[in-house]
Amino acid sequence: MTGMTPSAPYKLASLAASGGEPSVLAIGDRRIGGEHFALIAGPCTVESREQTLATAQVVADGGGTMLRGGAYKPRTSPYAFQGLGEAGLAILAEAKAVTGLPVVTELMDVRDLEVVLEVADMIQIGARNMQNYALLSEVGRTRCPVMIKRGLSSTIEELLMAAEYVLKEGNERVVLCERGIRTFETAYRFTLDLAAVPVIKSLSHLPVVVDPSHAAGRRDLVAPLALAAAAVGADGIVVELHPDPDAAICDGPQAMLCDDFAAFAGRIEAVAEIAGRRLQAVA
Ligand code: PEP
Ligand code: MN
Repeated sequence: MTGMTPSAPYKLASLAASGGEPSVLAIGDRRIGGEHFALIAGPCTVESREQTLATAQVVADGGGTMLRGGAYKPRTSPYAFQGLGEAGLAILAEAKAVTGLPVVTELMDVRDLEVVLEVADMIQIGARNMQNYALLSEVGRTRCPVMIKRGLSSTIEELLMAAEYVLKEGNERVVLCERGIRTFETAYRFTLDLAAVPVIKSLSHLPVVVDPSHAAGRRDLVAPLALAAAAVGADGIVVELHPDPDAAICDGPQAMLCDDFAAFAGRIEAVAEIAGRRLQAVA
């Protein structure tokens, strides 16, 4: 399969739309796409000021290029912690001010768009909202970069159609994220579809990042899957970190230890370089 098939239902997301060139997008003062590789890291959720600032500093010192953390969390159980909301956004704003890292954070509800826009350098649309077309159109009407995570059971074409909703409204800065899909395998949480990376890149000009943390659900798999993602040509990696994963409110079992981040970043940088990309500091 090469290039856009004549029947492809997406237009603006297609590789042909950019004349066959991969897009390079500005996110805060960083770049993603082309030769620019992004290492996006942070806590699953903003739990406290201390936990978030400590983690953000580890990301900055270790060579991460963006800070990611949730103030609004999509949880399977309505009884689970749902995020700190606006108080969490304020903590992310402080982490950005201290470290200079652009912030990636999730928007779940259009009613929170205004407050999220005050802090976010890139809005995350979670896997469960990939087909929330009202939400996609609304972020499409902003000019804030958007990272769309692939739905748990969504095809590559459905992911590209989700991007099309944002692009159609005039927002050209869309990043796609492979985060694992549901299969019959139960040894890990989701099956990371690494083939999706070169396939999407043959179909679309949009940057593609990979989230090994949510795919694996297990810390021991995060580094090997991240290295494989960098080798297969991803434009970036999204990983979760925690200073004390056993005490994490959410996604502790998959959180990388903060102490392991700098060495991990070094290995990712080396593999990304083999794949023709560099982990840039400031553009
Ligand atoms: C997350 O990124 O914290 C998250 C909940 O991921 P996903 O939407 O991919 O499940
Ligand atoms: Mn998480």
